[in-house]
Parts: sequence; structure tokens; C-alpha cells
Amino acid sequence: MTTGRLIYVVEDESDICTLVCGELERYGHHARAFRTGAQAMYALRQQLPDVCIIDLGLPDMDGLTLVRHLMEVGETGVIILSGRDSATDKVLGLELGADDYVSKPFDPRELVARINSFLRRRKKISALTTAVPARRALFGDWSFDPATLTATHRNGRREMLSAAEAELLLGLLQSPRQILSREQLMQARQGAFDRCIDVRMSRIRKKLEQDPRNPQLIRTVYGAGYMLMADVQWQAV
Ligand code: CA
Repeated sequence: MTTGRLIYVVEDESDICTLVCGELERYGHHARAFRTGAQAMYALRQQLPDVCIIDLGLPDMDGLTLVRHLMEVGETGVIILSGRDSATDKVLGLELGADDYVSKPFDPRELVARINSFLRRRKKISALTTAVPARRALFGDWSFDPATLTATHRNGRREMLSAAEAELLLGLLQSPRQILSREQLMQARQGAFDRCIDVRMSRIRKKLEQDPRNPQLIRTVYGAGYMLMADVQWQAV
């Protein structure tokens, strides 16, 4: 059970805010509500929460601006909440690196379940990195350090991955040269949909592949899944 995390709820509809914060507190989390993007931005500069729930339709700014800001600072989990139930918004949010997307109307219990599932997955990643401290994976022209979520190219170029992208990459790094199905890559993830994996994979490719349209490092095996086309060596930092 993951409890006692700091969660920001950025949502201008007070009914939804009250419901979500109440449900979060019921699970032992510490929730703080913000009615405008400006208030949230101010608070984010003071202290970063473990997870930030962001409504896309804010009175003073597009919620995606906040998502972009959080992706630059890293670390915080981002869950998008929106009445704009269009596939474009969903994909755009995930492309920016958001960890999950919930459409209104929604069941606050489902939202909290997704947050808890995100926190469990994050804990798994950090357990993985602290159980075997200071190890990085060498593959192709890259090394990946799970502790800092940073991939470094042979030529010195560095790319930061989101927690969700790192989780996916670690899945591939643990089983190189094997076809992994989307189900295997999603593992027991609640509420995830196939498109999530594809969007994240394309973000990883944009960062790691020389030509993302003709990927050589991570191949798509049609109808089966993905395969990492490199040997992996784990090395002490
Ligand atoms: Ca709104």
C-alpha cells in the first residue's frame, strides 16, 4: 500500500476538487487543490508534489502548459484530467510525457486507484535502482542510468526520460533481443491502453534513434510487439 504522498489537484470546478481531494485524503495522501494554473505554477516552484493531477480546461491557461513545465523539471508524476475527451488531447498529453489520462465524467475511486498504481510502479523502479545501486545499462551507442533517468550517447549527448518512458526502456533492457508484447511491457498496469505504449515508444525513439522513422535500436515486430536490437551490459557507475 502506497500512502502519504503529496498530490496537487489543479482543477477549477470546486465539486470535482472536493471529491478528488476527499478520496485522496481517504487513502492517506496529502492533497492540495489549486483553482488556477497560476496558483499551481507558484506552488510548483516552491515544492514539487509526487503526483500532479491537471485539468486541461483551466480558466487562465491551457493545462498542457503545466504538463510541459512539469516535464522539464522531471520527477513529478502527471495525470491529466479532462472533459475534452478527444483522441488528439489524449495523444498530445501522453506525447508530452504525462503518465496517465482520465476523462470526465470519472469515478474518483478509479482516479485514486490509477494514482496508487502509478506510485507502486515508481516505487518498483526506484527499488530496482536502489537494490542494485549505481548500475547503468550499456546498449548500442547508449548508456542508461536508471537512478537519474538519463541516457547518454557515446558522443556525450544526454536525453532525460520520463518515469513512464524509463519503465518501458527498462523492460526492454531486461530482455534484449527478445520480442516483448505490449501486454508484457504494460505488465499489470491498470487502465493503460495499447496506444500509451506506442506513444511512449515513439518518444523513446525520438530521443535514442538516429532516424526515428527507421528505428534500428528498438524494432517493431508487427502483430507481436517490440524488440531491443542490442546486447545489454550492466556496469557499475
Ligand atoms: Ca475545467
